[in-house]
Amino acid sequence: MSPRIAVVGSGPAGLTFARVLHRHGHPVTVLERDPGPDARPPGGALDLHEGLGQLALDKAGLLAEFEELSRPEGQAMRILDAAGTVLRDWHPGPDDRANPEIDRGQLRDLLLGPLGVRWGRGVTRVVTGTPAGVLVHFADGRQETFDLVVGADGAWSRVRPAVSSVTPHYTGVTSVESSLDEIDTRHPDLDRLIGDGSVAAYGVNRSLVAQRNSGGHVKVYAKFRAPLDWHADLADAEALRARLLALFDGWAAPVLDLLRHSAAFVHRPLYVLPVSHTWTHVPGVTLLGDAAHLMPPLGAGANLAMLDGAELAESIATGPGDLDEAVRAFEERMWARAGRWAKITTAGLERLVSPDPAEALALFDRVQPS
Ligand SMILES: Cc1cc2nc3c(=O)[nH]c(=O)nc-3n(C[C@H](O)[C@H](O)[C@H](O)COP(=O)(O)OP(=O)(O)OC[C@H]3O[C@@H](n4cnc5c(N)ncnc54)[C@H](O)[C@@H]3O)c2cc1C
Repeated sequence: MSPRIAVVGSGPAGLTFARVLHRHGHPVTVLERDPGPDARPPGGALDLHEGLGQLALDKAGLLAEFEELSRPEGQAMRILDAAGTVLRDWHPGPDDRANPEIDRGQLRDLLLGPLGVRWGRGVTRVVTGTPAGVLVHFADGRQETFDLVVGADGAWSRVRPAVSSVTPHYTGVTSVESSLDEIDTRHPDLDRLIGDGSVAAYGVNRSLVAQRNSGGHVKVYAKFRAPLDWHADLADAEALRARLLALFDGWAAPVLDLLRHSAAFVHRPLYVLPVSHTWTHVPGVTLLGDAAHLMPPLGAGANLAMLDGAELAESIATGPGDLDEAVRAFEERMWARAGRWAKITTAGLERLVSPDPAEALALFDRVQPS
């Protein structure tokens, strides 16, 4: 009989895990707190790297469909200083598919495919070592047992306490996300400024990034160093906008227009787990993605989450048959990879939101030479 496997969370980690298991004919139960796939706005586009997210999609048999949906031109990147001077204007070559962009909603639908997700099943905690297996408690009071519970439930994982007492801590950098719609017709100047991909402007301890999504939609991210409660006295969106404009006072008008015209502000303080977060293996439970290794959002988190999911599924489906051994082997690989990326992204955040804006440019030149 197949082991009873549940994955908690239908983000990039959970869905990739479930999809690869499904491809190998293994049953898996996907438990998701949201009431449905469109319960929340899906968030900004993701760039999926060749050796990470794209490799995971290949393992799921979805690479060709990704190539149809994704936008290689979205890799373009323009760097400005606070005065609006263009310092770099990088465009991918015609065959460059190293990091194409895809909207999160499109990626979710691609991964969902034939999977049957149990929506509205918020998990409150997981108890190991019961005679019937691993016991999952739900917010509605129900309980269910499984042989393996995989926590892919993100930064504030309810599964994580079953293996680790560590919780995320604030980096000191916060992010305010907002968006612009119909950019080509409503804001043609900003449309030109952003180009095919993203535009980023760096100043002292702050940055402003605008990223093109599909359908004329643009995400704007303001990042800066601030105490966690910096916005406590801001009653509404206009007060928040005024505070942001004050924070970026003196920046070039076309750059500030990104803040003047955007809407739907979402405050996202950047939290992380310790750089090398590991735990003593606990039979019957493991973690994937942000639940295991939350790190600064510098283009790696979803990629790592997907590769975690694909590798754990493959380890279970193609391994020698011992479920616990398959999980143990996977954990060692995940920890090593995540530790490397956590170091890179932690150092990257220091350079991108730095007292010296030249640090951000130097980082760009190292990652994207020529
Ligand atoms: C602004 C921003 C931009 C980013 N840009 C990029 C990028 O360009 N490239 C990149 O690779 N990464 C990026 N990241 C990081 C990326 O979003 C995350 O690393 C990735 O989403 C992690 O995937 P996950 O599946 O582990 O967790 P999540 O995406 O957080 O998914 C967790 C899922 O679990 C569900 N859930 C939570 N709690 C429960 C519960 N108790 N019970 C049941 N379900 C639950 C949630 O509803 C959600 O569906 C960015 C992050 C941010 C904040």
